[in-house]
Amino acid sequence: NKMGSHVVSTARRRHAVCVPYPAQGHINPMLKVAKLLHAKGFHVTFVNTIYNHNRLLKSRGTNALDGFPSFRFESIPDGLPEADMDVTQDIPTLCESFTKNGLTPFKELLRQINSRDDVPPVSCIVSDGCMSFTLDAAEELGVPEVLFWTTSACGFLAYLHYHRFIEKGLSPLKDESYLTKEHLDTKIDWIPSMRNLRLKDIPSFIRTTDPKDIMLNFLVRETDRAKRAAAIILNTFDDLEHDVIQSIQSILPSVYSIGPLHLLVKQEIGEDSEIRQMGSNLWKEETECVDWLNTKSENSVVYVNFGSITVMTAKQLEEFAWGLAATGKEFLWVIRPDLVAGDVAMVPPEFLTETADRRMLANWCPQEKVLSHPAIGGFLTHSGWNSTLESLCGGVPMVCWPFFAEQQTNCKFCCDEWEVGIEIGGDVKREEVEAVVRELMDGEKGKKMREKAEEWRRLAEKATTEHERGSSVVNFEKLAKPYANPVMNPM
Ligand code: UDP
Repeated sequence: NKMGSHVVSTARRRHAVCVPYPAQGHINPMLKVAKLLHAKGFHVTFVNTIYNHNRLLKSRGTNALDGFPSFRFESIPDGLPEADMDVTQDIPTLCESFTKNGLTPFKELLRQINSRDDVPPVSCIVSDGCMSFTLDAAEELGVPEVLFWTTSACGFLAYLHYHRFIEKGLSPLKDESYLTKEHLDTKIDWIPSMRNLRLKDIPSFIRTTDPKDIMLNFLVRETDRAKRAAAIILNTFDDLEHDVIQSIQSILPSVYSIGPLHLLVKQEIGEDSEIRQMGSNLWKEETECVDWLNTKSENSVVYVNFGSITVMTAKQLEEFAWGLAATGKEFLWVIRPDLVAGDVAMVPPEFLTETADRRMLANWCPQEKVLSHPAIGGFLTHSGWNSTLESLCGGVPMVCWPFFAEQQTNCKFCCDEWEVGIEIGGDVKREEVEAVVRELMDGEKGKKMREKAEEWRRLAEKATTEHERGSSVVNFEKLAKPYANPVMNPM
């Protein structure tokens, strides 16, 4: 009968509830995981915060989150007061609020989902590693939970050692006088498989003097709770971070590297699929820059973008501007409206006149497209993990200006392990910007880095290629294959 067949067809699909941490660099890769699970036959519920849900409707159009019968969007409150939609939320406040207030509405959402007869019952939860409160809900429901750490493996391994920095008295710092270059150059040689590290290369939250620092304590707690997950997934690939991944595997039970996710999505989901086309940018993408790039010759354009959270002073913005102008190069510079802390992001008018014929400015761009465009010859970046991976996959070398979190570690690995980056000092000066960007685009070192990036690009392709049985393809299968492997099946 009709009722009966309906029950069978919905019950047959396993149902993954995907919960990203509510920031751009976490939502993007989680949406890719969700799409990949859907392609493997899962029913998917994707849970945004109400704040981001509304932002996505604003940036992507009112029907952007309608979803599909087997791919639905839901939202829960983050516990913060209503905020201006054009300003990035404060990360420590958000971490604190969601940890404290997230569990109740999340459990209520799961209860509602499981009381509906038009969707299969929840069979697993895939949550951001920084949202470990979801573990409590999974355990209560008796379903496995996979934690997705959207950081690099090297960044994650460093976070896993945060408690040791505290035990060793290296964090919190005794007082501000420990923030000197000398102290930050302290050798850190006791993290297995991490070579030649300095204190400055460790994710930035240890550089606090406050024992109660929100982020320091948050990361100690979240990395500890990670042990309760059925599996950990990472957006990286074995060839890139082999030793570090092995070290993580000696700490946590099941660790799967399944990246670069944007390449895996390309491989596994057809180009005309409506599911693949769903985007997650919180700012409105300005696509004109791709048309502009189409008119440029190979490796000729410098791409400048500091991601979704980085802020700088008006002075630093000015130094970057004049440094870029002095290179004489063509450039695409994405200046988020909230890039300058507490001010409107404005570049000097004389700079605009002087560079008028060789630059494109935008508020937000389709970055994956930009970084895979042949015209891009180098990337001035804040070393966010998604940006770094997208750059490697485009064969694009980088100038790294790490801002916070594990960007410091990514920068270190870009420069010394993967040999695709040059670091630029935090206290940025126009002469230095000019010099490193020239080196990046035209220098001997730049040329070597571009060759190296091209090698990583090929290895990333290989890791995500089906017919080569790439490591990320195989790992994703192990994770999501029905019945053969228990990870994402109901217990
Ligand atoms: N991004 C984008 N357009 C932009 C800037 C960023 O599409 O103009 C995307 C980028 O592709 C990446 C994410 O936003 O997927 C930023 O993540 P990342 O980890 O690089 O940095 P975060 O924003 O978390 O600091």
